[in-house]
Amino acid sequence: MIRVTDLHKSYAAHRVLRGVDLDIARGEVICLLGASGSGKSTLLRCVNHLETPDAGYVEVDGEVIGYRAQSGRLRALPDRAIRRQRADIGMVFQQFNLFPNLTALENVTEAPIAVRGLSRSEAADRARTLLAEVGLAGREDSYPRQLSGGQQQRVAIARALAMRPKVMLFDEPTSALDPELITEVLATMQRLAEQGMTMLVVTHEIGFARDVADRIAFVDDGRILELGPPDAVLGAPRHDRTRAFLGRLT
Ligand code: ATP
Ligand code: MG
Repeated sequence: MIRVTDLHKSYAAHRVLRGVDLDIARGEVICLLGASGSGKSTLLRCVNHLETPDAGYVEVDGEVIGYRAQSGRLRALPDRAIRRQRADIGMVFQQFNLFPNLTALENVTEAPIAVRGLSRSEAADRARTLLAEVGLAGREDSYPRQLSGGQQQRVAIARALAMRPKVMLFDEPTSALDPELITEVLATMQRLAEQGMTMLVVTHEIGFARDVADRIAFVDDGRILELGPPDAVLGAPRHDRTRAFLGRLT
């Protein structure tokens, strides 16, 4: 469902991604672990083309993101086409980035109306269902400032799901939350995984990675150094650098 092929990305002379390959099956959950600065966010941002790769490419559901193949070469797509591709790729960030002047319901209905062309009432029906699924029934009319961080992040998840994305990307979705609010967001993500969503999740929550991930990828200095089931990567890491990273967490 997501295929990353020999992806390279540099900022000036700094080579941040140095040849990443990753193949994620439909319905699979992959957690990305790795030290600060190893390139996890850059990889996620390349998947939805918020960053343009220097070499290599990403496919989602068989479509190359940001490019079209023409006579054996990749040519950049116009912005409008990239926005259309991005609509199929849900993304949730550490900072929830809700619109502060819109209610929870309006935050969730905005893009389906603007981008998918849903009517206001269709979008509102969908939003109410999704807000209920993330445990926020009754909070539709609350503004972000009236919600806890965990509630805001669940609105952000509902907002992403309202576009009916093919895949969901999460970049440290619980890192900005107080400890007592983390559980509810992780539980929401776990339910989503159980419903069969294809998910790529950057997280430092090892328990979540162990319980929910089908595979864990350890990112080190712009490469995937180790990739495998949680038992293998967490329980019997093959590389010293993975062991050292995991050792620092506990
Ligand atoms: P963290 O765990 O701290 O979020 P990360 O693994 O997500 O780290 P990235 O955000 O992908 O790391 O950044 C990788 C490297 O690329 C870092 O050294 C960062 O400073 C650099 N970098 C990221 N974005 C930019 C940018 N827009 N311009 C220049 N350098 C950047
Ligand atoms: Mg990051």
